[in-house]
Amino acid sequence: DADTAMYRVKAEGRNNYCFFESEMNVQALARLNLEADLRRAIERDELCLHYQPKVDLKSGCITGVEALIRWQHPTRGLLLPDDFIPLAEETGLVMPIGEWVLHTACTQARKWQQAGYPAITMAVNLSAKQFRQAGLVERVSSVLQQTDLAPHYLELELTESLLIEDIDRVVATLQELRSLGVGLSIDEFGTGYSSLAYLQRFPIHTLKISRAFIGGIPEQSGGATIALAVLALANKLGLKTVAEGIENKAQQAFLTEHGCNLGQGFLFSRPLSAAQLAVLQGQGRRYGVQD
Ligand code: C2E
Ligand code: MG
Ligand code: MG
Repeated sequence: DADTAMYRVKAEGRNNYCFFESEMNVQALARLNLEADLRRAIERDELCLHYQPKVDLKSGCITGVEALIRWQHPTRGLLLPDDFIPLAEETGLVMPIGEWVLHTACTQARKWQQAGYPAITMAVNLSAKQFRQAGLVERVSSVLQQTDLAPHYLELELTESLLIEDIDRVVATLQELRSLGVGLSIDEFGTGYSSLAYLQRFPIHTLKISRAFIGGIPEQSGGATIALAVLALANKLGLKTVAEGIENKAQQAFLTEHGCNLGQGFLFSRPLSAAQLAVLQGQGRRYGVQD
């Protein structure tokens, strides 16, 4: 009857709820475990940086690299930033990790210089929390001193979303960083929500065109159109441009032809270990459109 049916629905509901709850517990537990592991990752020496070349599209020379973090997890294997940086952000672990990245990247850049390789820039990604922390400028400055790296070899990559809150403070921080002499770029440009009106207030040097727009070149006109618009905008504002995620010759040719300064992507090189990058540097590798 109706009562029994009602009871059944409630009971099933309760069971479902229990099932759902235990499922959530499993997830929460996995997350806690990962957090505990991440907390120890630095001291256990499980984090490492890979370096992806940035290529001058005109000369084909490597002019810089971007440091990209990896985590050699003891049981899960090699984890990519998307697997743990969001968790690091939520838990605040991104602060010590970010500090480690900055220090390791600057140390590496200096090592290559001392080994006699042509000097190249080292780009480091900053998370939103890191950018907003008090004393960021002093920290960057002190890492440069400790590692003896000249400031103009360091470049900080900031995402657009990090620049939308509290514009006056953002501009002040950017100005201080710029005064230090480090390079500043906006990563994933065009995918965030920042107002174009703010762009001219930001004392930055470079726009990185998101690979979301490069991927469609040349078959789909949409991505190409946006890439061209960003190139024109950067040109008017006197900013340098880097195209991310170049995977084929057609994209390279298109971007070179339209005056994009630098390119980065699997066509040139995947992110490499420090040793592999040194080999490339030793070879004086050049990436022409015709080869
Ligand atoms: P990002 O800064 O935009 O870095 C470029 C990402 O694109 C890298 O992924 C790189 O491996 C990938 N990539 C490069 N060329 C190509 C290509 O031709 N095709 C495709 N499909 N992908 C390409 P990765 O290493 O997984 O890093 C993802 C994101 O994680 C980075 O995006 C960056 O926002 C963040 N990240 C990386 N390292 C750090 C770090 O040390 N600190 C912080 N806060 N974030 C980091
Ligand atoms: Mg980046
Ligand atoms: Mg990027």
